[in-house]
Amino acid sequence: MDFRLTEEQTMIRDMARKFAHDVVAPQVKAIEEAGEYPYEILEQMAELGMMGIPFPEKYGGGGGDWVEMHLCIEELSRVDMSLGALLDVTTGLIAQELYEFGTEDQKQKWLIPIVQGKKIGAFGLTESDAGSDAGATKTTAILDGDEWVINGTKQFITNIGLDNASIIIITAKVTPKTKVGKPAINTFIVPKGTRGFTVGKRYNKMAVHRLATNECIFEDCHIPKSYILGKQDRGFAQHLAVLNTGRISIGAMSVGLAQACFDASLKYAKERVQFGKPIYSFQGVSFKIADMAMNIELARNMYLKAAWLKDNNMPHALEASYAKLFGSEMAEKAASDALQIHGGYGIMDDYPVSRYYRECKVGQIVEGTSEIQRIVISRNL
Ligand SMILES: Cc1cc2nc3c(=O)[nH]c(=O)nc-3n(C[C@H](O)[C@H](O)[C@H](O)COP(=O)(O)OP(=O)(O)OC[C@H]3O[C@@H](n4cnc5c(N)ncnc54)[C@H](O)[C@@H]3O)c2cc1C
Repeated sequence: MDFRLTEEQTMIRDMARKFAHDVVAPQVKAIEEAGEYPYEILEQMAELGMMGIPFPEKYGGGGGDWVEMHLCIEELSRVDMSLGALLDVTTGLIAQELYEFGTEDQKQKWLIPIVQGKKIGAFGLTESDAGSDAGATKTTAILDGDEWVINGTKQFITNIGLDNASIIIITAKVTPKTKVGKPAINTFIVPKGTRGFTVGKRYNKMAVHRLATNECIFEDCHIPKSYILGKQDRGFAQHLAVLNTGRISIGAMSVGLAQACFDASLKYAKERVQFGKPIYSFQGVSFKIADMAMNIELARNMYLKAAWLKDNNMPHALEASYAKLFGSEMAEKAASDALQIHGGYGIMDDYPVSRYYRECKVGQIVEGTSEIQRIVISRNL
C-alpha cells in the first residue's frame, strides 16, 4: 500500500493551496461582506484548469483524477468553503453527470464550456416537499410532440444565480407510469434563459453568503425532446449516482474547513498568554488541538480513499458516505473547539473562527443530511 501522492497530485494540491492563499485569502472578508464572488476569481480558477481536472483533454479537461480534484476542493475550502462548494456542484456533479450520461452532442454543447470554466452548472433535485425524500418530486415533464413541457419549482439551488450559469440539470416525474405503478423520474437539461424557466429569489443565509442559492420556477417550460439526459426512467438513479462524488467533495470541504480551524487555533493558542503562559501550555487547550489534528488526518484519509476507489472504478458509495458523515461532523467539532480556544475573540467577526462556526453546519445538511448518510451506510452493511 502506498499512501504517497503522485507528482501530479502534489502539483495540483500545491497549485490550489497557493491560489487560495495568495488570491482568495486577502479578499475573503471583503467578498463575504459583498455577498458576491468577483468573476475574476472564477476566471482565474478556470485559467488554472481547476474546473475540469478529472475530465479528458478532448472535452477541455486536465486529464487528471478525482483525487486531484478533491485535493483542490480541500485547499480552496481551507480558505473559503463557498468556493469548494461551487466547484463541487459545477464539476463534481454537473460536469460528471453530463460526462457519464450525456450524448456526444450534449457533451459538445454543455460539458466542454463547463469543464473549461467558461460556464457554470447547477443541480436541481430539492423541492419544498422533496428534500431528503428526493423521489417525492412534484415537478412534471410531459412529452408534447417533439418537446418536453416542464412545470414545478426547485429550491435551494446553488450556482444558478451566477451570471455565467448555463444550465440546470433537474429531476422531473414523467408519464406514463412504470410497471410498478409509480411515475418514472427522468433528468433533463434546462438551459438558463429558456422561456418558462425563471430564476427566483436568492435566499439569505446564516452562512456561505457568497454562494448563490436561488429558487428555480418552471412554468410551461418547453425544451426539445433531445434535452433528456441519459436513459428513460433511469434519471433518478443517475442523479443519485453522481451524488456519491458530491459526498466525497463534502468530505474534502469539511477537511479544508477543519484544517482552517486547526491553523487558527494552533497559532492563537501559542500567542495568547494567560496566567503568565501561552494557553497552549494548558492541556485543556492543547488536547483539543491534538484531537483536531488526529481527526483531520482521519477524515482526509477517508475522502482520499473514496476518491481513489472512484478513480479505480471500484464501488465507493459506502466510503463516500463515511467521508461525508465523519468529515462534516468532525468539522463541526473542530469549529466549536476553535471558537472556544479563541474565547471572547472567537465571537468577534475580526477573527475568522466565527465564520467557520457558522459554516460548519452546511456540510451536515447538503447532498444528504447526516441522518440520510447513516441510512445509506446501514443499508450497505
Ligand atoms: C446552502 C445550501 C445549498 C443547497 N444546494 C442545493 C442544490 O444545489 N441543489 C439541490 O437540489 N439542493 C440543494 N440544497 C438542498 C439540500 O440538499 C437539502 O436541504 C437537504 O437534502 C435536506 O433536505 P431538507 O432541507 O428538505 O430537509 P428534510 O428532508 O425536511 O429534513 C429535515 C430533518 O429530518 C431528517 N430526516 C428526514 N428524513 C429522515 C429519515 N428518513 N430518517 C431520519 N431523519 C430524517 C433530516 O436528516 C433533517 O434533520 C442546498 C441546501 C443548502 C442549505
